[in-house]
Amino acid sequence: MKRTSRLAALFCLLFPAAAWAKLRVAATTTDLEWLTEAVGGESVEVESLSTGDQDIHFVEPRPSMVMRLKRADVLVRTGLDLDMWADSLVAAARNGKVVYGAPGYVDASVGIELLQIPVGKVDAAMGDIHVFGNPHYWLDPANAAVITKNILDGLVRGDPKNEAAFTENRERFLAALDAKLKEWDLKAAGLKGLKLVTYHNSWVYFAKRFGVELFGNIEPKPGIPPSPSHLERLISMMKEDGVRVIMAETYYPVKGSKMVAEKTGAELVIVPSSVGGLPGIKGYFDVFDCVLNHLVDAVGVKGDAR
Ligand SMILES: [Zn+2]
Repeated sequence: MKRTSRLAALFCLLFPAAAWAKLRVAATTTDLEWLTEAVGGESVEVESLSTGDQDIHFVEPRPSMVMRLKRADVLVRTGLDLDMWADSLVAAARNGKVVYGAPGYVDASVGIELLQIPVGKVDAAMGDIHVFGNPHYWLDPANAAVITKNILDGLVRGDPKNEAAFTENRERFLAALDAKLKEWDLKAAGLKGLKLVTYHNSWVYFAKRFGVELFGNIEPKPGIPPSPSHLERLISMMKEDGVRVIMAETYYPVKGSKMVAEKTGAELVIVPSSVGGLPGIKGYFDVFDCVLNHLVDAVGVKGDAR
């Protein structure tokens, strides 16, 4: 008995409750990692399988990611066809807690009002990606309310005793989000009707939120590199309509965008689309602060500074 209690004391010393009781979460993106931390607080340990400066469509699966999934209690993923690379990792990890349909499986897209759902037959002519609708839904910050609800439900399934704390953390996040949404709306007031060309078709949710008009893409189809004829066509359309701004994520090749900017006189802005997309982008809110600041600067308006 004495020996048992001494062992228990040693165990507690080596593994304090707060450390070993944490719910282990693997997220497929840094945004989902950040949002899971916002809901889970100190009761979760979250790791992203990708980095914020990567094209999430094309993440290369690695053995270290399988190891993370083997240890995970919960997997939070974007769903749709954005992080399909995670399927092979989940299969390799053989962890029943995080397979499709298990309590630890969280598809963050559930309940999101999807945009650009293809109508009719989906074929290669449409490109190989975005086949279930546009998957870049986290770029409308208001969608974080739905995303964090999915995360909350998953965390509660994994750790029911912390339901109250998770719920309270999410409420606090939603209050902060609400304040930021008001701030961003003011900042974006001068962007209403702005015609914007983007490299990839990733800003449709963002554009809808902030009243920006998406004019075209440097890529002819999602995931397809630009051809000279596509760029020539885009350049002449941009000149005709006086399009002044091109926006591209940090990880796309800059050559095509630069060429179009030079030929049209448009401003090229390079922005992050995820937490960690640039060194200073440490949180989900930073992404929108940064993108809106860049756009406001590019169009030469002062946003809410009036
Ligand atoms: Zn995409």
